[in-house]
Amino acid sequence: MNTTAHHKILIVGGGTAGITVAARLLRAGETDVAVIEPSARHYYQAMWTLVGGGKAKAAGTERPEASVMPKKAIWIKNSAAAFDPENNAVECADGARYGYDVLVVAPGIQLDWDRTDGLPEAMDTSVVASNYGFELAPKTWELIQATTSGSAVFMMPSGPIKCAGAPQKIAYLACDHWRKTGVLKDIDVHLVLPTPRMFGIPAIADSLDKVAANYGITVHTESEITEIDADARKVTISSLGPSGDPGTLGFDMLHAVPRQSAPDWVKSSPLSTGDAMGYVEVDKHTHQHVRYPNVFSLGDAGSTPNSKTGAAIRKQAPVVVENIRAFLGGRPLPGRYDGYASCPIVTSGHDMLLAEFNYDFEITPTFPGLDPTVPHRPYWFLKRYGLPFMYWNLMLRGLA
Ligand SMILES: Cc1cc2nc3c(=O)[nH]c(=O)nc-3n(C[C@H](O)[C@H](O)[C@H](O)COP(=O)(O)OP(=O)(O)OC[C@H]3O[C@@H](n4cnc5c(N)ncnc54)[C@H](O)[C@@H]3O)c2cc1C
Repeated sequence: MNTTAHHKILIVGGGTAGITVAARLLRAGETDVAVIEPSARHYYQAMWTLVGGGKAKAAGTERPEASVMPKKAIWIKNSAAAFDPENNAVECADGARYGYDVLVVAPGIQLDWDRTDGLPEAMDTSVVASNYGFELAPKTWELIQATTSGSAVFMMPSGPIKCAGAPQKIAYLACDHWRKTGVLKDIDVHLVLPTPRMFGIPAIADSLDKVAANYGITVHTESEITEIDADARKVTISSLGPSGDPGTLGFDMLHAVPRQSAPDWVKSSPLSTGDAMGYVEVDKHTHQHVRYPNVFSLGDAGSTPNSKTGAAIRKQAPVVVENIRAFLGGRPLPGRYDGYASCPIVTSGHDMLLAEFNYDFEITPTFPGLDPTVPHRPYWFLKRYGLPFMYWNLMLRGLA
């Protein structure tokens, strides 16, 4: 079947990863870079935690896609629907086919709301909210404000999710608000986590244990909420390991986070790992596809086992661009990504712990003067003001 158009470099997804890579490719001198992106809006999702915590407005987290699309990029306003890597083509929802020399796959992650029993229905009630959506995050703040007694539950699902710290950050912001308004003592707060500890790095987990204890939060480790009955205001917890805490828990408010996986159309494509998560199967250092050398992937849709964050993409994008240029020039791929990710864990409305680490869970601090295992006041300002500025003005322009 003939293609509608052919581009030297075709990028699927104009989110954090797609735009950053497009901008860097154009800066590096590439002239034929096209981005398939259906959405008219672009979101700075990292700020949704602060929206849910009442520290930022949702409107400040979105901009027109046209304002972030690099001027020299060709924007294909369409939805990719299928990959045909044998023929170097991507098919879109309307049947248009785009050929490429090099493909970059970055359509993000899928929120599988229906993989937790009762969650879709619960989201329609007044007692369940989530920061995992532009339209949803403001409801979290409404719910936090409306809660003055009873039981509050914060959940994290099993499996990779974007920003694994987000499910607990909102618990801290909520508790900080409740403490300030004098009602924390009247609220029984529970944090249900699938992991054995609060964080994968022991020194940071120790620190977060103290934060949770200070708020009086009961932490359920190796536990997952597998069923939500919003009418009965009750969740069912399944055990995932020796420290698991199975049973039921009543709630007056619930902050929900859905399970996540690659978009279904990516899962069923030849580019997928073929397992239940279905991410695009790339080398974890070079981002090159393991079967199709002219295909690269980064960001939430890629199989690289880093923490899925925009911070990781900031380090992945230069590697991907360097390797694409080498591939096109017939040279060995020089770029290597070391798994860097950072998780800005807000621990109150004025403090933040900046967890930065690599594939080996080694702490890799950007600001060595500050102990990276404990919260600091200056980091709050970094999160609230510094990082958004950097995102919109530097990262998306290929400058950081
Ligand atoms: C509540 C929350 C808090 C977070 N906090 C942080 C944080 O503090 N720090 C941090 O670094 N990261 C954080 N993140 C994670 C960060 O936002 C993501 O890791 C990052 O946006 C992933 O970038 P991406 O380009 O892979 O996907 P996205 O930015 O999600 O972009 C995917 C793009 O692909 C497009 N697309 C979808 N389907 C198709 C299709 N079929 N065809 C073409 N295009 C398609 C979408 O419209 C979208 O524009 C947070 C995320 C959330 C939800």
